[in-house]
Amino acid sequence: MILAPLNMSYLFKSALLVNLDPSRVERCDLLIADGKIIERGPTLEAREDEEIINLTGKIVMPGMTCAHTHLYSALARGMPAPPRTPTNFTEILELVWWRLDRALDEETIYWSAMAGAMDAARAGTTCLFDHHASPSHIRGSLQIVREAIEKVGLRAVLCYEVTDRGGSDERDRGLEENRSFLKWTKQSASSSPALFRGLVGAHASFTLNDESLSRCAELMREFDAGLHIHAAEDMCDVNDARDRHGLGVVERLAKHGALNNQTILAHGVHLSDEDIEIARAAGVWFAHNPRSNMNNQVGYAPVEKFGERVVLGTDGIGADMFEEARSAFFKGRDEGLNFGADAWLGVLSNNHRLASQTFGEDIGSLKPGSAADLIVLDYQSPTPLVSENLAWHFAFGINSAVVESVMVNGRFVIRDRRHALDNVYADSRKASEKLWAKLRSM
Ligand SMILES: [Zn+2]
Repeated sequence: MILAPLNMSYLFKSALLVNLDPSRVERCDLLIADGKIIERGPTLEAREDEEIINLTGKIVMPGMTCAHTHLYSALARGMPAPPRTPTNFTEILELVWWRLDRALDEETIYWSAMAGAMDAARAGTTCLFDHHASPSHIRGSLQIVREAIEKVGLRAVLCYEVTDRGGSDERDRGLEENRSFLKWTKQSASSSPALFRGLVGAHASFTLNDESLSRCAELMREFDAGLHIHAAEDMCDVNDARDRHGLGVVERLAKHGALNNQTILAHGVHLSDEDIEIARAAGVWFAHNPRSNMNNQVGYAPVEKFGERVVLGTDGIGADMFEEARSAFFKGRDEGLNFGADAWLGVLSNNHRLASQTFGEDIGSLKPGSAADLIVLDYQSPTPLVSENLAWHFAFGINSAVVESVMVNGRFVIRDRRHALDNVYADSRKASEKLWAKLRSM
């Protein structure tokens, strides 16, 4: 069984169309063809070649975008415990994630990406900004990830994590992997549809020396690409930049020319006001990952100071943006943040703005001309759902369990809860047993 064919035309009848920012709920018909929304109106007439889908009682909204994730960690769920319990953030990296990513080979990179992308699709996430690491198999790894995401049917922005932690040879191969993927995306962008883009991936300031950072910046300039990097996730990053370089984390990135308006700074938990100011002036995106921050006990990010370009990521804890946004809302409440539920809908919309900027097309609005990246929800609410209370339904009701169908670029990836690939989890479990056996022997 293969995915639904391309070039199908669909007429969605009588759906409740939901726009996140501004909050708007409206019963409308939607015509979809050639990967785009062609027309929107109260009653559209079907033409002969269109499949009519009656969506009375269903919600249609833009597919979610995850602004920071690590598909390579998809097979980590329930994995063997590390040799000892980490006591701080650097030990979490050394004892958990840097052992896991080193254990990945061609096969387990592929099944991690398949499982992670399938989880994303089932949660209604149609676009992923992934940050990949597999130091034992660097060359070609992004194409393996790409192939898996393509099979699942999603849109994605990929990069390889450049770092000094494995020495200069691994660092060079990481740079080369970014270069080769960016080159590929530039070539394939001319052919339609192009569902993949690249960024320059880098781990974090504290694992990059000056030369490594400068070479990342060179790549950014060469391909007019942004940097995707963890910034001030933990105080260790801030202390390292100050002690070894006498600079703030962002100040150091700026000094090396590694900031631009396509750049994603993940976490930003401990960024100083000065660093935030420099980053905002450069127009970067701040990816807030509340569940990951809570899990790693690194602190609460100064979300209010991030301004207009704050986006949400999962940092590899699945790709369920309903759940991430809800956690962001509750954690914000707990921290006394002046963000109502509607502000988080605005942030989810920022994720769409990031995707739109990266792909150079309108993603995340249900207007004629925008990409047909949509999800259909079967949400049974005990109370009315209207424009004015939409955000509160997101905070207290709507969740990924109600995602019924998923469409990317005009093609059904999941239809009525069924994906064409029905064996992904069984195959992923086999791959994870292999990966875990390797971890136990390390
Ligand atoms: Zn991360």
